[in-house]
Amino acid sequence: MAWRCTGATNKELIENLSKEGLINNERVKRAMIAVDRSHYAPSRPYSDSPQPIGHSATISAPHMHGHACEYLIDHLRPGSHVLDIGSGSGYLTHVLANLVTDTSPNGNAKGQVIGVDHIQELVDLAHANMSKSQEGRKLLETECVKFIKADGRRGWPEGAPYDAIHVGAAAAELHPLLVEQLRAPGRMFIPVSSGGGLSNTVLGDGQYIWVVDKKPDGSIHKEKVFAVSYVPLTDPPK
Ligand code: SAH
Repeated sequence: MAWRCTGATNKELIENLSKEGLINNERVKRAMIAVDRSHYAPSRPYSDSPQPIGHSATISAPHMHGHACEYLIDHLRPGSHVLDIGSGSGYLTHVLANLVTDTSPNGNAKGQVIGVDHIQELVDLAHANMSKSQEGRKLLETECVKFIKADGRRGWPEGAPYDAIHVGAAAAELHPLLVEQLRAPGRMFIPVSSGGGLSNTVLGDGQYIWVVDKKPDGSIHKEKVFAVSYVPLTDPPK
């Protein structure tokens, strides 16, 4: 149960998520322990719940961040290129950056994560949040992480192809431009609202995570994996 996972410290929160079987991958666990959520979710940093960050956006619950990383993990290697759409607080962008950075003594594989949000204040917030730690500042200085203001429904073609694409807001459809920007092989984790051309009338309305694989031969395989509740991927507010 998610509420049981709340901890007194960042490490305790992640250890509790692991004990409850909500995080199972050791690399994901290490990458999440290395990012202090208090820099990104100041009100209740170590609670396993989503929290408002302003501008009608929320930082997702830590167990959802864990799931997203675990579904993408085979495509998150030192040197991988990743697109994080709807980067909001910047927390997941930081965790993803830890997973694509080579921390071994002679490691030089330089991965990159591009965080995209369509609200300038949230782009600035993510940058400020990441600047609170020395590790975060280094990721920004070395351009392992870049935050960009753009409409994520179009992806960010300048950085394509991506080994992994994470979408942090519910899309109305499986935007073809995003699938186009995936590397072969590559994987996208995307919440899609029913009615977006992928609905199953038997299962009714709602949002579902879809995992989209682009195989080495370029063929596409889509799978609906679980029901979720995300803020929508929309036009920017006027
Ligand atoms: N992963 C983030 C989730 C933030 S909530 C976190 O855990 O902090 C979803 C984010 O998607 C919001 O910041 C919102 O501004 C952004 N968003 C919504 N529609 C968008 C669009 N069309 N393009 C880019 N970002 C969008």
